[in-house]
Amino acid sequence: TTGKYSTSAAVEDPITPSVKVNYTQLLINGQFVDSVSGKTFPTLDPRTGEVIANVAEGDARDIDLAVSAARKAFDDGPWPRMTAYERSKILLRFADLVEKHADEVAALETWDNGKTYEQSAKLEVPMFVRLFRYYAGWADKIHGLTVPADGSYHVQTLHEPIGVAGQIIPWNFPLLMFAWKVGPALACGNTIVLKTAEQTPLSAIYVAKLLHEAGLPAGVLNIVSGYGPTAGAALASHMEVDKLAFTGSTETGQIVLELAAKSNLKPVTLELGGKSPFIVCEDADVDKAVEMAHFALFFNQGQCCCAGSRTFVHEKVYDEFLEKSRKRAANRVVGDPFLGGIEQGPQVDGEQFKKILRYIKSGIEGGATLEAGGERFGSKGYYVQPTVFSNVKDDMTIAQEEIFGPVQTILKYKEVEEVIRRANASRYGLAAGVFTQNIDTANRLTRALRVGSVWINCFDIFDAAIPFGGYKMSGHGREKGIYSLSNYLQVKAVVTPLNNPAWL
Ligand code: NAD
Repeated sequence: TTGKYSTSAAVEDPITPSVKVNYTQLLINGQFVDSVSGKTFPTLDPRTGEVIANVAEGDARDIDLAVSAARKAFDDGPWPRMTAYERSKILLRFADLVEKHADEVAALETWDNGKTYEQSAKLEVPMFVRLFRYYAGWADKIHGLTVPADGSYHVQTLHEPIGVAGQIIPWNFPLLMFAWKVGPALACGNTIVLKTAEQTPLSAIYVAKLLHEAGLPAGVLNIVSGYGPTAGAALASHMEVDKLAFTGSTETGQIVLELAAKSNLKPVTLELGGKSPFIVCEDADVDKAVEMAHFALFFNQGQCCCAGSRTFVHEKVYDEFLEKSRKRAANRVVGDPFLGGIEQGPQVDGEQFKKILRYIKSGIEGGATLEAGGERFGSKGYYVQPTVFSNVKDDMTIAQEEIFGPVQTILKYKEVEEVIRRANASRYGLAAGVFTQNIDTANRLTRALRVGSVWINCFDIFDAAIPFGGYKMSGHGREKGIYSLSNYLQVKAVVTPLNNPAWL
């Protein structure tokens, strides 16, 4: 096994989490209910593959009920009609409640997803709370404009909530994806039907319960657990859903966009896949670049849409960078995510685990050099050894497709213009990392890279105020920050004659 410390014992004999799973039903109109079909599906512990809980499995009929509840709450309920200040206070109370229950929330997230408890507790729950406080702050600052039109008319714009928002989220950041989508939608006064990912339904149901305790009226946020082709597709194609926000793979993004177009033309925000370049320039501080490139790829078990998954290294520093990156990966601490000091837990499920091992095989067969890892870690659950490939060529499958796992691919380059061309030669355009001490190189790369986020001498900086989203097949629209508000608002132009209206 790989790993600085011998943690395989804890992998074979996992720690029992300190949290109980109390909520497994659908949440519709403020009530916990079983699915109409009565069916459930198991959600698994990625450390072992064992069942954590059986969760109500929603399908099209449950989506219908949830959308009706959201529609009624929007058309007749208090939420869009109460003062924005009241809405803001409910979101702030919710943030306080999540903080109060932070340990349980973090434990559920780790149990269901496999990410380290340290990451859930120190990074993701605090960021979740921060996102809700950030959007609570926006609630009473959303307003239209006075438009200087022809002098004989008074023209103003009203920024109104868009209506019922359908939201479909993935499994890699269940809590944060909830916050990115639910926070701005609620701040703007919308109602919601959220479909969680089938791999990780637990934390969303738990926090949704807290949101109701904070004073959210019934029907404003409805949570349907279930599968994509049934529950997800029903939500995307529903005629009473006014807006769709989706995060997941590019392939599914194309499906939901088509469903939205063919039903009621609802506007769609898409946060999709990536194959983000991480560019290490010849003047970079190599030790820092190694650490940052390692983090950019391996963070969250490599399961990040914006993972720095093509590490381009200038030929002058390539050998040193490679040697240090290999050592860093070999020293990565893999083990039970509930243990302190662990850097990497298991992949989310058996499907992802097998897919990653297939990509590793394809890298070896395709002629890349395996520098570290390459196999499963331990013999139980879905752990993968931190893996590094060198000698990677642009046309290899591992350099083109999203692996979504702990597999770093290192490519060599010579010239800045060359790396720009190669970095941009991807169907994706989500993010990029640039490591250099030269401001001109940083500026040149920043302007030339066709991506939604550029991190210079850093990576994965995700403040609530920073917008995130993709160019090209990485998606449409931006989430977080002020930009996300426009996803959830309609603009109404109101025109009033100032004098001598024709009919008076
Ligand atoms: P996925 O597309 O299979 O699933 C995402 C969500 O879509 C899940 O809730 C799933 O149930 C649902 N879904 C699946 N099929 C559907 C259908 N036919 N109709 C409606 N909904 C459907 O993706 P995944 O494998 O669960 O997640 C990993 C992918 O998500 C990666 O490719 C990653 O890059 C991407 N991702 C992107 C971002 C981003 O912000 N850009 C963030 C996280 C993940």
